[in-house]
Amino acid sequence: MRVKRAILWAITGGAVAFSMNAHAARQSTEFKSGIVWPEPKMVTPGKTDAEPPADAIVLFDGKNLDMWKDGANWEIKDGVATSKKSGITTKEAFGDCQLHLEFATPEKIEGKGQGRGNSGVYIMGKYEVQILDSIDNPTYFDGQCASIYKQTPPMVNASRKPGEWQTYDIIFTAPKFGEDGKVTKPAYATVIHNGVVVHNHFELLGGTFYDRAPVYQKHAEKLPLNLQYHGNPVKFRNIWIRSFEPLVGKKPE
Ligand code: MG
Repeated sequence: MRVKRAILWAITGGAVAFSMNAHAARQSTEFKSGIVWPEPKMVTPGKTDAEPPADAIVLFDGKNLDMWKDGANWEIKDGVATSKKSGITTKEAFGDCQLHLEFATPEKIEGKGQGRGNSGVYIMGKYEVQILDSIDNPTYFDGQCASIYKQTPPMVNASRKPGEWQTYDIIFTAPKFGEDGKVTKPAYATVIHNGVVVHNHFELLGGTFYDRAPVYQKHAEKLPLNLQYHGNPVKFRNIWIRSFEPLVGKKPE
C-alpha cells in the first residue's frame, strides 16, 4: 500500500513539475507576430449601447429626416418618424457598416401576412432585412420579421409585440465585384434583433427580390441605405450608422 502511494506521489508530483516547467518555458519565449499594427483610434462609445458612438453618422435623432431623400414624405411627431407615401433613402452612401435602428409595427393590428406592419431595411438599397409584425401572423418564414428577405428566416423569432419598440443592430460587409462584373466576395450580414443574434455572418446570395431569385448585380462600393414603405405606418427612431474598415498591419519583410 505504502509503495503504491509512493509511486502515485512520484508520478503526480513529477507531472506537476513537468507542467510547471512547460509553463515557464512558454513564458520565456513570448510569441510575437512581427506585424506592425497601427494604433486603433479612440471611439468614444455612447452612454448605452443604443446611443451613437462618437464616429457614427446620426440618420435620425427624432428631429428631422434631413439626412434622407423623400424624408418629407414621412410624418414626424414626438421624436418618432412614421412611414408614409414612399420609401426614404439616405443622401450619403455606405459600404461596410454597423447600423442601429429602432422600429415599432402598428399597435392597432390591421392586415395579415406580408400586409401587417411591413417595412424593411434595404442595405445598399438592395439587401433587405425584413420588418414585419411577426407576432401571431403566419407568413412564409423567409419573409417574416428579421428575415433576409427570401434568402433565410431569422434563426429565432425575437419579435416584440405590435406597438412595442424593437431594435436592429446590423453588421454588414459589402460585396466585391471583379472587372467582369462577377461577385468575387459575397455580402455578409450579422443581425441582432432585440439583443438576440438572428443571423451570424450570413452569406447573402445576392439582392433580395419579391419576384425573382436572389442574384448579384455589380454595383458601387458604397450605396445609400433605404427604408421601405409597404403601405403600413411603421414607426422609427434612433437611427445611426458607422462605417468601418479592418486595420491593416505591416507584415515583416
Ligand atoms: Mg418589407
